[in-house]
Amino acid sequence: MTLCKFSKLPASLRLLSPVPVHAAMFVALAMATSTAVASERHEHGVAQLEVVQSGSDLSLRWQLPMDGVVGFEHAPTNTQEHKQLAQAHQKMSQAQQWLTPNTAARCAVTGVEIELPGFKPQPVGSDHAHDKKHEHGHESGHDAGHEAGHSDASWQVSWRCAQPSALVAIDLLALDMWPEIETVYVQGVVNKKQFALEIRSPSRTFSLP
Ligand SMILES: [Zn+2]
Repeated sequence: MTLCKFSKLPASLRLLSPVPVHAAMFVALAMATSTAVASERHEHGVAQLEVVQSGSDLSLRWQLPMDGVVGFEHAPTNTQEHKQLAQAHQKMSQAQQWLTPNTAARCAVTGVEIELPGFKPQPVGSDHAHDKKHEHGHESGHDAGHEAGHSDASWQVSWRCAQPSALVAIDLLALDMWPEIETVYVQGVVNKKQFALEIRSPSRTFSLP
């Protein structure tokens, strides 16, 4: 698995989960859900979304089948599949375009963490060296983790909101880039209240409790 911390943001914006209790909530939620995730294979077309809001901090953490992200779950075997992974990673890096808390809350992205099995970041400055006759030989030797037949992507995005009391809804534009994902199971903790709901496409906006 490739754990890729988005590194193009200024250092001041790269802070992730700055409040300890915030991180603890994620751990608790992860523990609450991991049993289900581990004991049965994921269902294609279904994504899990954890939402945690505490004070001015808001975080969303997605877990979804790679099938829904790039259309395959094996290790990339050709240039096209590497390209699909790179494009997915690039889009997810631009989290502010794909996940939008309602504007009155004035939330700004503070951190993005992307885990896309099989994705290998290109070394800095290597882009210009590519041309169609120069396909790299890095198709083999990719990390295992796909061998089981299924693999998941995870994507965690954090915001700091200037008007957290105005936070009432989040628009999941990301569902537009994942047409295969038809159901999102949302659960989380908002204002110390637990909640759970289900979003079915074409819906993509949900209200916070
Ligand atoms: Zn699968």
